[in-house]
Amino acid sequence: MISVEQALDKILSCVEVLEEEPRPILDSMGQVLAEDIFSTIDVPPLDNSAMDGYAVRSEDTSGASRQSPRFLRVIDTVMAGSISECEVEPGTAIRIMTGAAIPKGADSVVRFEDTDEVERKGASGETGILCEIKPGLDIRRAGENITRGSLVLRKGVVIRPSEVGVVASLGRSQVMVTRRPTVAVLVTGGELVDINQPLPAGKIYDSNTYSVAALVRRYGGIPEILGVVLDNEDSLVAGLQQGLDADMLITTGGVSMGDYDVVKDVLAKEGEVVFWKVQMKPGKPLAFGRIKGVSKAGIARNILHLGLPGNPVSVMVTFELFARPAILKMMGRKNLAKPTIEAVIKEPITNKDGSRIFARAIVEKCGGQYFAQLTGPQGSGILTSMTLANGLVIVPEDKPEVGKGDIVQVMMLDWNEES
Ligand code: AMP
Ligand code: MG
Repeated sequence: MISVEQALDKILSCVEVLEEEPRPILDSMGQVLAEDIFSTIDVPPLDNSAMDGYAVRSEDTSGASRQSPRFLRVIDTVMAGSISECEVEPGTAIRIMTGAAIPKGADSVVRFEDTDEVERKGASGETGILCEIKPGLDIRRAGENITRGSLVLRKGVVIRPSEVGVVASLGRSQVMVTRRPTVAVLVTGGELVDINQPLPAGKIYDSNTYSVAALVRRYGGIPEILGVVLDNEDSLVAGLQQGLDADMLITTGGVSMGDYDVVKDVLAKEGEVVFWKVQMKPGKPLAFGRIKGVSKAGIARNILHLGLPGNPVSVMVTFELFARPAILKMMGRKNLAKPTIEAVIKEPITNKDGSRIFARAIVEKCGGQYFAQLTGPQGSGILTSMTLANGLVIVPEDKPEVGKGDIVQVMMLDWNEES
């Protein structure tokens, strides 16, 4: 049986980075920039005020103090977005709001707090300046954020809200990014009922479709829900054929040793099995390979197929370990690993069969140290445990037991790969 690392290596060596596409900036979050972005403008485009106050000639403030204010005649008011037509001449000032362009003649801004704005001391139509200021004070220079022609964002950057904002500040509405993969999701099992149907005796609701589709979305892919198929080869083949336009196929269930576990047989007949079974728990009966066929669009495809186990927890854990990095790689992301931390485990864990164990845990920080506590019973059908967990405690294959108080590695499920 292969190890978790060997399985991931095999999967990633089959996965290719997808093509580039133009995207509206707001839809590009989490995608990788596929072009260098240069600015065609200065940001800000003009010298402007950093404060609400008065635009002045700094020499006019020489000798000003609270005891002996310098009085300047106010000749205009300018708000953000407007340009004053007046020029600041010796002995005058223009009332100016934050963001408004600095008027001709002025070389600095005196903020209201340094004038007699509140307790007017001089005549009406005048402002009293209460301190000396230096040239350039409270002026934001044209291009101080971004100069025209400069490289603003480099190809390969992962787009976050700050990148979206910076691209918008250049007046651009679209960027070239590596495209998101489409991931077809097909679940197997005669016991499964769609969530929109009543629940007959003996059946259960299909939750895997939704947890997998949610995970696909979380990591930036586009889920394509194919629904439920029965545990026989014909149903499964028919279902898989519906997903051949996707970049990757994910099935759940039907990969164990049971009489009706037909996924690996279908994979062998309709394509190629790269591996079956990984030395881990939960999630051992994972299958990976390729399915060949002709897509709905009439194109011959040889598409990656990840056959996840059926148990809802095994599905989520194996998705995090194998499907998530595959999706991120397709999107051109370079950091594929979830952050792991060291934590003190609050209870013992036994490892009976020499597998890599991923135990659901609640991780908390206390006095500069992380502590991990298991979520309770670790049965791989107990999906509510995943709602409690924020981490997976990793017990290595060669460790039959970790004791209470030992240091363990924990994969942090809600932390970003880029962090
Ligand atoms: P299997 O690997 O197909 O034998 O499934 C293992 C267990 O997971 C069985 O108890 C199934 O009922 C359950 N299971 C399989 N698929 C789903 C699903 N889509 N939603 C919820 N439970 C499932
Ligand atoms: Mg099944």
